[in-house]
Amino acid sequence: MISAESRRRIEGRIRDVPDFPRPGIVFKDITPLLRDPETLRLACDGLAAGFQEDRVELVVGIESRGFIFGAPVALALGAGFTLARKQGKLPGETLATRYALEYGEGEIEMQSDALARGQRVLVIDDVIATGGTAAATARLVCELGGVLVGACFLIELAFLEGRKLLPGIRVEALLRF
Ligand code: AMP
Repeated sequence: MISAESRRRIEGRIRDVPDFPRPGIVFKDITPLLRDPETLRLACDGLAAGFQEDRVELVVGIESRGFIFGAPVALALGAGFTLARKQGKLPGETLATRYALEYGEGEIEMQSDALARGQRVLVIDDVIATGGTAAATARLVCELGGVLVGACFLIELAFLEGRKLLPGIRVEALLRF
């Protein structure tokens, strides 16, 4: 995976923003990391490194910060890239699924032809919090016939136990809080 030093550098470029977007939430702002070429590369390389041996064919990036890491990780793995977006953003025929948010419900969708049956898929996002978004995306991948090889995140908010919503799925995160 990645060295302790790389991890330390990445962590040093993530800014905690208390009470954003709502009181009580500590938002993990990754924009300082993205602005810095060294940590941007370390993060993308670190995310790809965990799945180098898994013959990933397609990376699914979760809107919207999953798109930022998804495309470079796909290139590093020799895979293609596709999108999981919030409801109403994708043209053509789509498959959607609803999931619980902290307050209310969300809906995420993928294009019906986003992947071929049997394709080996990696799901990626910046943060796994409660796990609802990633679990919904994993469901879509499986309903579309993909073989889910795992899910990877820059940050896992481990105290929220989001990985419990991804039973039997390999979950990797570069940083855990
Ligand atoms: P969840 O479905 O609860 O795992 O939430 C995951 C999604 O919400 C990801 O797409 C994250 O970008 C975003 N998210 C949730 N909590 C945070 C946080 N504390 N800081 C930054 N992004 C977050």
